[in-house]
Amino acid sequence: MDIDRYHEVTNRLKEKFPPGTVRKRDDQSRAYIPNQVYTDRLERVLQGEWSKEIKELEINVPNQYVKAIVRVYIGPYYRDGSAVASITKQGIENAEARAKSAAFVDALDTWELGWTDLAPYNEDWGKNPALAYLLDYEPNVEVPSFSSMSTTTDHRCIFCQRFLTEDDINILKQIPNFNIQKMKYCADDLPDAFVRKLEPVANALPENYKKRLLEALDKKRKV
Ligand SMILES: [Zn+2]
Repeated sequence: MDIDRYHEVTNRLKEKFPPGTVRKRDDQSRAYIPNQVYTDRLERVLQGEWSKEIKELEINVPNQYVKAIVRVYIGPYYRDGSAVASITKQGIENAEARAKSAAFVDALDTWELGWTDLAPYNEDWGKNPALAYLLDYEPNVEVPSFSSMSTTTDHRCIFCQRFLTEDDINILKQIPNFNIQKMKYCADDLPDAFVRKLEPVANALPENYKKRLLEALDKKRKV
C-alpha cells in the first residue's frame, strides 16, 4: 500500500455511517458506535488490508482492572489504542473483552472513524468550532446503480429457493453488518428489519425494493 492509497482509504474510513448507527448506553448517556460496525467498515474499505494485534494485556487482580493495548494496522501503517476496564462481578474474561474492545476503538479513533456521527452527541469536542465541519460533513457515498435487466446468479434465496439476480446480491451488500454468506434472500423474502436498513440508498433501489421499503417503514410507524 502506498501513501496515496493510504490517504484514500483513511478518507473512506471516516465517512459518515448510515442513520441509526450511533447507540446510547442505558446506564450512561454516552453515545457510541458498536464495535462490529467499525469492523464492518474496515472490512468493506480494506478487505484483507488491515489487522489488529494485542500488544499488551495486563490483568491486575489486586487492583481489579485489566489494561489492554491494541495495535491496528492499515497496510504497513499502524496506530495503538489503550483502555482499562475494571474487573466486575462478571469476571476477568468479561473485563478483558471490554478492555480489548475499547482499546481497538481507541486506536481507530486516531483515524477519526465515526467522528462525524458522534459529534452531535459530544459536548466537549463536538461543540468545538474547529471541528464544526464534522456536523455538516457530507460523505461522498457511492450510490450504487441497479439495472432493471439484471442477470441471474447461481445463488438461491434461502427461503423460497428462487435464483437471485446480481441486483439482489448487490442490494444485500448495502445492508450494514449483513452476513451475505449465510443470509441470501430474494426481494420478497428479505425480512422487514433488513429492508429498513436500505433506507440510505432508497433512491437508487429498483421499484420492487422501493415498494418493500415503503411498506416496511410504514409498518414500523404503526407499531
Ligand atoms: Zn425468496
